[in-house]
Amino acid sequence: MRLGILGGGQLGRMLALAAHPLGITSTVLDPAADPCAAAAAGHVRGEFDDLQALYELVKRSDVITYEFENVPVESARWLAERVPVFPPPKALEVSQDRLVEKSFFESLGIPTPPFAAIDTRGQFEAAIRDIGLPAVLKTRRFGYDGKGQAVLRTQADAEAAWATLGGRPLILEGFVPFDREVSILAVRGRSGETAFYPLVENEHREGMLYRSLAPAANTGEELTERAGELALRVMTELEYVGVLAIEWFQDGPRLLANEMAPRVHNSGHWTTEGAVTSQFENHVRAVCGLPLGSAAAVGHSALFNLIGNRPDFAEVLSIPNAHLHWYGKEPKPRRKVGHVTLTAPDADERTRLADEFVRRIAPRVQ
Ligand code: AMP
Repeated sequence: MRLGILGGGQLGRMLALAAHPLGITSTVLDPAADPCAAAAAGHVRGEFDDLQALYELVKRSDVITYEFENVPVESARWLAERVPVFPPPKALEVSQDRLVEKSFFESLGIPTPPFAAIDTRGQFEAAIRDIGLPAVLKTRRFGYDGKGQAVLRTQADAEAAWATLGGRPLILEGFVPFDREVSILAVRGRSGETAFYPLVENEHREGMLYRSLAPAANTGEELTERAGELALRVMTELEYVGVLAIEWFQDGPRLLANEMAPRVHNSGHWTTEGAVTSQFENHVRAVCGLPLGSAAAVGHSALFNLIGNRPDFAEVLSIPNAHLHWYGKEPKPRRKVGHVTLTAPDADERTRLADEFVRRIAPRVQ
């Protein structure tokens, strides 16, 4: 079996690494000369809308997936006419536009923060009146890691945000005074079978994922089941195949959907060491039509992203149960260059190890 992957970043690399022991070889399509995934996969160099490059990928693939959601939907559809593409291109279409995504959640009865489409100054003012402040103004497309958005607390913030973001298609969302952010990772196979990872608790810094705890602490069964049930609605509606991540704001007993990613997700990186089957392996199994593996957690994990700088590897590895994943990328400000997973038998030991990691490595977003 040959797997084609649109995108050659760290997610593509970890997918290819997971495919390898299953006897599946991978090829990534990426415009960069030496993308990070090329260490573990073949590489076709080209833009995501370059028909020649897409055709080359088709020739080298029995099934195609993607590792980031800003692949042009037309390219995914063009590929899907020639070779199976999973997750279905419709999932890309939904997740590329925050307004389409929130409307899609709403149509499935999945709670979201209040939101309104903003194209004009008049709509902006009306939405501020309806939704109230504080609120968050976001570009509908191409926003990630906190880019293309502004928190509005005062009218002056609104003016400033309009000056930078106005003119593009936008969405205004009510600001959710959440207790915490959580995510669910779910996977659906080609035969329709599903598996759900436990709920993960995520801490962001400067709009980027800094730390995840899995399973999330103090989580009743009810909340986990509810997140799973809502994810199942999305997967069923889209006839989804592969790993799906949905990020939530938890406000007391309520879960409000923030966004979904039709791919393996940063908040699932702990699964390589902390789950029976990693998200990467389960994604590969799903898209290749193989049976899924158990998504149960093995103990308790803490995941830290390495952002913008390189720690001392020996120092990291001297922490008990620390697993280092370095992506082989040049550190640059706000660039995810690796992650560390700490595994522990219980939540208390996880806290102890995470504290030790923070004290000794002082991971900072740089
Ligand atoms: P996003 O790119 O939409 O995931 O937003 C990045 C981060 O900004 C989220 O993880 C939250 O920490 C924060 N954020 C985004 N939208 C809202 C909202 N409506 N209410 C409160 N915080 C938000």
